[in-house]
Amino acid sequence: MLPTLVIRSSSIHAAGCYTTRALRKGTRVCEYEGPRMTKEVADARYADRFVTYLFGYGEEDMVIDGFGTPMFFNHSCSPNCESEEVDGHIYISTLRAIKPGEELTYEYNLFDSDDATQDCDCGSPNCRKTMFSPLELKRRARLERAKTRAAKRAAAK
Ligand SMILES: [Zn+2]
Repeated sequence: MLPTLVIRSSSIHAAGCYTTRALRKGTRVCEYEGPRMTKEVADARYADRFVTYLFGYGEEDMVIDGFGTPMFFNHSCSPNCESEEVDGHIYISTLRAIKPGEELTYEYNLFDSDDATQDCDCGSPNCRKTMFSPLELKRRARLERAKTRAAKRAAAK
């Protein structure tokens, strides 16, 4: 993590990560570090926990448990940072120049979630109102259609 980052209360959600100095576009501000495990192990371990900070990566079903600095980066639908995967490492990098005092955010693009909803209230003008990725929304719509078809078939019997 860059020494210019500070954690303080955020208007988006509880606490957020801010920069005290200007950052150039493309600056790596933080690595998403933590214990690595399969999604299966994580699901079993955190079955009862309300909040988790798991970051999926790689081709296989692996996640990083980022219970540390990365968890203070809030989601925004108009983010100023992005997550990138380089050789199995996840970095948070700036998408544009950032002024001192700005909160650092990135698109969570949640997918394969067991939660019913992940509402977004980031306050940006183009807020999508959800933290699910577009792909996850498609996957859910597909499941929903299949469920409706199954229910119709059951009713027709
Ligand atoms: Zn939003």
